[in-house]
Amino acid sequence: MRPMVDLRTQYLHIRDEVDRNIAEVIENTAFINGPQVKAFALELGAYLDGVEVIPCANGTDALQIAMMALGLQPGDELITASFTYVATAEAIALLQLTPVLVDVDPETFALDPEQVRAAIGPRTRAVVPVHLFGQCAPMEPILALAKAHNLYVIEDTAQAIGARYRDANGHSHHAGTMGDIGCTSFFPSKNLGCYGDGGALFTRNSALANRIRMVANHGQSVQYHHDEIGVNSRLDSLQAAVLRAKLPHLDRYNSARATAAATYNRILGASPWLKVPTTAPYSTHVFHQYTLRLHPDLDRQTLRDALTARDISSMIYYPIPLHRQKAYLDPRYTEGSFPVTEDLCRRVLSLPIHSELSPEGATEIAELVLDALQEIKG
Ligand SMILES: *Cc1c(COP(=O)(O)O)cnc(C)c1O
Repeated sequence: MRPMVDLRTQYLHIRDEVDRNIAEVIENTAFINGPQVKAFALELGAYLDGVEVIPCANGTDALQIAMMALGLQPGDELITASFTYVATAEAIALLQLTPVLVDVDPETFALDPEQVRAAIGPRTRAVVPVHLFGQCAPMEPILALAKAHNLYVIEDTAQAIGARYRDANGHSHHAGTMGDIGCTSFFPSKNLGCYGDGGALFTRNSALANRIRMVANHGQSVQYHHDEIGVNSRLDSLQAAVLRAKLPHLDRYNSARATAAATYNRILGASPWLKVPTTAPYSTHVFHQYTLRLHPDLDRQTLRDALTARDISSMIYYPIPLHRQKAYLDPRYTEGSFPVTEDLCRRVLSLPIHSELSPEGATEIAELVLDALQEIKG
């Protein structure tokens, strides 16, 4: 089976660095907050053009810690996309904040700034743009709205580490470094993944960085002095050791993904049954996912079955919009509230994409997809 990701081949290529770094952690037994954690935070901060990086246990924690560090209070409203992974809304709900959902752009899958504008009300405190599937949300209009209405911006960068946003002046900014706080995940299958769970927050504001550190560390800045209720959220030294070995390869990994995506686009773009992903003019795309939109007359399950028969994995990201998830049902929203999101949930299909997928491998998969379509549609 051609897998969605190939972490084993990736490991084999960097085995010496990874094994050496892991052995060092075990040798010196600094399993928590060891030198690897501090070194990784500095190295990632340098990669991200000089932001402060505060590591934590996972990407969901990063979002929660961001909202706690900004002092958001129950009832405060945060505007985010209806088409995203559940973690974005989960952190909001856990803190008894109020998610206000907006629909997304059908081409880029990013939240639509015009709808953000329309959703701003007297209780709005923050916007949480999600850089979905690997390209940046339209940050300039979002940042302008946030500035005009005095809102925080928390970027969910879990799928887009390494992507760059080009502003109107031609300056380039890393995803996750434009808002007040950027949040990311090092889940193994993310573009920069460790060998377990991990996450981090980014900020350019050093006072905020200190607050984030305090919240992530049981609400203490001096040991055993707890000034407020925090959480316990740390990146293991072993995971930091893995991430230090992988960070120097991140740009290469991302460009291998983009090359595979270009190959898919070239071959699949000709099919009347598929819409290949669009890259917005203001962003690079690091293709955390390569996501097709299927023609309404093409049955998704039939195509998936035909792909499985050809040894090709596929996944649906995401089958159910946030506002239709049982845990997040809300009388403000019903079927039809977010038509683009609902339509995407019915029609998207993601193909294998990862750092080890060669142009030849992508060509082979794309041709088998066309072969499957030929079988189904003639
Ligand atoms: C993966 C992901 C998260 C959560 O990351 P975890 O490390 O799994 O907690 C949050 N938001 C988005 C968009 C993600 O893809």
